[in-house]
Amino acid sequence: MRVPSPSAIWPALIATLILVSGCEKSATPESDTNAAMPAAVKATQAPDVEWPKHGLTDAEQRFSPLAQINADNVDSLGLDWYFDYPNQRGKEATPLVIDGVIYTTGSWSNVFAHDARSGRLLWYYDPKVPRDYAVHLCCDVVNRGVAVTDDQLFFGTLDGRLVSLNTDDGSLRWEVQTTDRSRPYSITGAPRIVKDKVIIGNGGSELGVRGYVSAYSRADGNLAWRFYTVPGNPDDGFENEAMEVAAETWGGGPWWEVGGGGTVWDSMAFDPELNLLYVGVGNGAPWNRQIRSPDGGDNLYLSSILALNPDDGSYVWHYQTTPGDAWDYTATQHMILADIEINGEVREVLMQAPKNGFFYVLDRRTGELLSAEPYATMTWASYVDMETGRPVETENARYTDGPTGLHLPGPIGGHNWHPMSFHPELGLVYIPRQDVGTVYAHDENFEHKEGYWNTGIDLMPGRLPDDLTQQAALLDTVRGLIVAWDPVTGKPRWEVEHTGPWNGGMLSTGGNLLFQGNADGQLVAYRADTGDQLWSFDAQTGIVAPPVTYRIDGEQYVAVVAGWGGSLALVGGGALKAGPKANRSRLLVFKLGGEATLPPAVDKPLVIDPPPMTATAEQVYEGQRLYRDYCQFCHGDNAIGGGPIPDLRALTKEKHEQFLAIVLGGLHWEKGMVGFGGQLSQEDAENIRAFVIERAHFWRGVMEAAAAQAAPVEG
Ligand code: CA
Repeated sequence: MRVPSPSAIWPALIATLILVSGCEKSATPESDTNAAMPAAVKATQAPDVEWPKHGLTDAEQRFSPLAQINADNVDSLGLDWYFDYPNQRGKEATPLVIDGVIYTTGSWSNVFAHDARSGRLLWYYDPKVPRDYAVHLCCDVVNRGVAVTDDQLFFGTLDGRLVSLNTDDGSLRWEVQTTDRSRPYSITGAPRIVKDKVIIGNGGSELGVRGYVSAYSRADGNLAWRFYTVPGNPDDGFENEAMEVAAETWGGGPWWEVGGGGTVWDSMAFDPELNLLYVGVGNGAPWNRQIRSPDGGDNLYLSSILALNPDDGSYVWHYQTTPGDAWDYTATQHMILADIEINGEVREVLMQAPKNGFFYVLDRRTGELLSAEPYATMTWASYVDMETGRPVETENARYTDGPTGLHLPGPIGGHNWHPMSFHPELGLVYIPRQDVGTVYAHDENFEHKEGYWNTGIDLMPGRLPDDLTQQAALLDTVRGLIVAWDPVTGKPRWEVEHTGPWNGGMLSTGGNLLFQGNADGQLVAYRADTGDQLWSFDAQTGIVAPPVTYRIDGEQYVAVVAGWGGSLALVGGGALKAGPKANRSRLLVFKLGGEATLPPAVDKPLVIDPPPMTATAEQVYEGQRLYRDYCQFCHGDNAIGGGPIPDLRALTKEKHEQFLAIVLGGLHWEKGMVGFGGQLSQEDAENIRAFVIERAHFWRGVMEAAAAQAAPVEG
């Protein structure tokens, strides 16, 4: 049971692939072919405690009763084996462990199956997502996992397909396109299985789509039902009564041209007794309601929790967390079903900490609001009125009278997709909380750009100031925490402060343990009841995915997919106090007494050596404006890279010479850097380059000044 080292696996695999494909070009496992291992090896050891579903169970509590690894012995937890993924981009998957096999997804919607004990790679599958599809993604080339039942596995692809594989060898069973490929839909979320159907949503509201959730027959991939979350063009008629009701809450339009939004891109839960499927619905498209729905309105069912009948997709109830969303306040965040005692009465509840900063407890039979208390810093609302169930907004929260000033939460949310965990014995929900503010401002010059970002927000007022004192003050407001939330009292019982935001999902166990990876590159175990740190492991890369645990032949394991990435990791390089993190994408598996070690990791220093600054201030300003619309979501706000994607301040002389070929011509399309020749002129690209050069000079100056200050003074 030793480390299946990448140096052992990939050459053998690549050699096999070259033999199979009969070609000599350098075949990379992620891009060129799909293959079972030479002799598809079956896992021999069956586990006795599995992790069979995305949230462990349909209630998605992510609490495992396993207690072999516990608060008394976790200091002897060690790495047992690891696997290096072949692609160094963001990793967000929840592993599933079934029948001795661990299934994970990597970047670009790739699927991997390993023997869960030995780590041996059994097979992998590459759905061959065209790399130029990356331009239609808001938040990295990530995937959050698979669903498995019987001998059938399901997953979604970045380009909108739902794929079914045979679990024994990873061969294709069926595949169906779930989206209109002419619109910028994407799938990053894990499917869920409900009875004979597989449920899948999609994303794309930042770019402009109409959200929906679909159910397909497990057997053959035929569409069983589809529920749109927002109305289309009323002139085309309504799909159902729920859409007719919703349309009354949209004012003006034409919202259907950009799409309206409301994508179901991550969270679901299922109550088999109530026969209710819960889906979390995303933000408006564009974000700015003044553009999307100029006459106002709540814009149902944006930012809502929807309860649907999973047999036919019909509407049962909804609760809207953010009426008339104008801030990217999705309600797609993790939902947990639990039965908890409130005022002496056991209530069947659904709990969610959506982006907007309030923690909601709802009656999951009816959608009745039981409580809504702030779990994160917020400036946009004062409280939720329990009579109306509506937040009471602060003045100019909707930026109708000019930019907002620093507004919290920002579009990253008080909590994003990173799963929470509910410890039923302690009665605590662990929330990966963050405070990352922004400035919202109406974009006077908004024009719909099909297939690109369409927020309707003027992004210039929200940019990081050059004044270092102002920068420091702003960064002081940026935080990342664990909140151990008591849903009965509506208050935190304890909190742990991290270096900064964008930390991993949660796992709690019967061993009085809470596991979480973080942006500093550590996997940490805390006492679940107090938050005291008990153990940590240096993963050499930021961890955003949630850990899982399982037991095979009496031995408990903890597994996590490590690999820095996702939206804030890319856009927020300047907001990450831990600094940019290299992506080292790995599946890490731990057990008591595990003795494996990772190879040493050496981070390359950032070398900033830009060409001379020759552009005018006007060219730099124009370049910055374009950069913020087209470049920053991958390359980082203010040209500060977050780690997984090249930091443009450090562009080499050669890359500067190729700048137009890369930016307009798509020279590096195979890495996901598409050509913008259809959208940007040569002058535009030169202006962006001028901004990048100006930033490089600025930051080099800042770094040199800091180094000079830190250097010992002679004499
Ligand atoms: Ca969004």
